[in-house]
Amino acid sequence: MAGILEGKVALITGAGSGIGRATSRIFAREGAQLVLVDVVAEAAEETLEAAKQAGAKGICLKADVSKSSEVETAVARTVAEFGRLDCAFNNAGIEGEPALTHKCTESNWNRVLAINLTGVWLCMKAEIAQMLKQGHGGAIVNTSSLAGIAGAIGGPAYVAAKHGVAGLTRAAALEYGRHNIRVNAVCPGPIRTPMLSRLMQFTRDAEQRMVRSEPLKRLGEPEEVGETVVWLCSDRASYVTGLPMPVDGGFSAQ
Ligand code: NAP
Repeated sequence: MAGILEGKVALITGAGSGIGRATSRIFAREGAQLVLVDVVAEAAEETLEAAKQAGAKGICLKADVSKSSEVETAVARTVAEFGRLDCAFNNAGIEGEPALTHKCTESNWNRVLAINLTGVWLCMKAEIAQMLKQGHGGAIVNTSSLAGIAGAIGGPAYVAAKHGVAGLTRAAALEYGRHNIRVNAVCPGPIRTPMLSRLMQFTRDAEQRMVRSEPLKRLGEPEEVGETVVWLCSDRASYVTGLPMPVDGGFSAQ
């Protein structure tokens, strides 16, 4: 049976680890051609190698999403290689340094905002320009967070950036709906990735505490975010746009 993204070209940022890596595999399973972008080229190469062994086609590009020239080059290379861009998953992000608002340094603030918010905007800017040029629309999914829906303690820049991603998603959905470009976001809860492992080091019994506060009583797996992203990118979600969608085991329902 054909996959739900058969023949589509999908660009994925942060493809070398965690949610980006797992989602790339699901894009491949559903028949998409992959453009895997990461600041660490080798990490994205590993993701691509595994996808190719399962029969996928694609390329890897090294780019820092906070640098407009690198993002523009990545989209231009995508079009040079595959002739178009149908789907984009703007997912690259960092956790930044843990600190309360009055202790957050300006350099940490600037770095987190540059990658997690400006990076998403720069990607959307280049992707939307290409989708408008093609004239047949497209689908974009951005990675926000539970911290883009509600506050969280000890990461003011992260919370501000992820709220920004949710706002940017809604704004772009309104601006480009008439061009059949759908723009959604996923808002993951605690997902078992290298980023979460780094964050859990700072709190005693972090995993048990998270699990206790989750209605589904477990952490999420990166593939569970990936399945949602791929569905949002597919025609099965053809009337869904402007949605920051929780993938959080029910946490935000409390
Ligand atoms: P991860 O395992 O650390 O993966 C993030 C990937 O993005 C890494 O390969 C990273 O490379 C790359 N990256 C970092 N900065 C970049 C840049 N400037 N340009 C291009 N690529 C860059 O983290 P994850 O948990 O999968 O997180 C993916 C996204 O989900 C992030 O936006 C994160 O904020 C969001 N999220 C995660 C959770 C969770 O519980 N895991 C919850 C909510 C939201 P390096 O490894 O070299 O930094």
